[in-house]
Amino acid sequence: MERTPHVMLIGKGVEDFAKTLPPEVGVKFQPDGYFCTERRWTQLEDVREMESRQKQGKDNVMMFQLDHASAPSTVVTIERGASKECEPKYEHDSHKFGTVGSVALYQPDPKSNGTHRAQLASATSTGGMTNQRYHRVGDSPVIGAGTYANSLCAVSCTGHGEWFIRCVAAHDVAKRLEYKYSDYQDRGSALKKAVDEVVNGSLRGDDENGGGAGGLIALDRDGNFYADMNCSGMYHAWLYENGDMVTRIFSDKKKECQNC
Ligand code: ASP
Repeated sequence: MERTPHVMLIGKGVEDFAKTLPPEVGVKFQPDGYFCTERRWTQLEDVREMESRQKQGKDNVMMFQLDHASAPSTVVTIERGASKECEPKYEHDSHKFGTVGSVALYQPDPKSNGTHRAQLASATSTGGMTNQRYHRVGDSPVIGAGTYANSLCAVSCTGHGEWFIRCVAAHDVAKRLEYKYSDYQDRGSALKKAVDEVVNGSLRGDDENGGGAGGLIALDRDGNFYADMNCSGMYHAWLYENGDMVTRIFSDKKKECQNC
């Protein structure tokens, strides 16, 4: 969005805009068929088959599946306005696809004497949820819901998007840091608290079925990083300036892998 005054473009408009960009921007186009793979097609058919079995003459049953779980473990059934989510079984196989999020921080050289400011950025890309209705918009591209960055922190989310939109999850983390934890000296704990309250509080809501499954990654302007989830697992990793990398699947709180 460096080449337009707008912060969000969608649909055909963004495609037309992308075609006007010079080659050095590096936007590539592919025909629709390029995005269709056998594995994903099979996954969609599996969920549709379950949906039609579940329907049994009812019109108001809809099933869809989170991308980061393998079929058919994470299925959401919407029936008579209720939303029921099966606890995802986190299988250690190669069936993890879909949503990818990143957060990044540029910290200026201290010798620049304040002439440069720290900069934070967040980006989230998703295939949405399998068997979602066409033209459904999830949280990932919605600024504030699945993706958000300001001068304090950058946040990227994954999970059942409707819930992340309802509680404007990524923005919620940023605003807790600003309004609630601005006096905290320990900025790392402030970030952890803000993330925990959203992942295990706001997203859960007062829904009797436990609210929205998912998680998020967050980075603040001092370089503190924290990731948490309210589902079984979420692949995440972080890289320090010196090249050290940490990779994780489970929450910090769940020290032991219970499925291994
Ligand atoms: N949040 C995405 C959506 O609801 C799905 C995901 O993160 O797996 O579209």
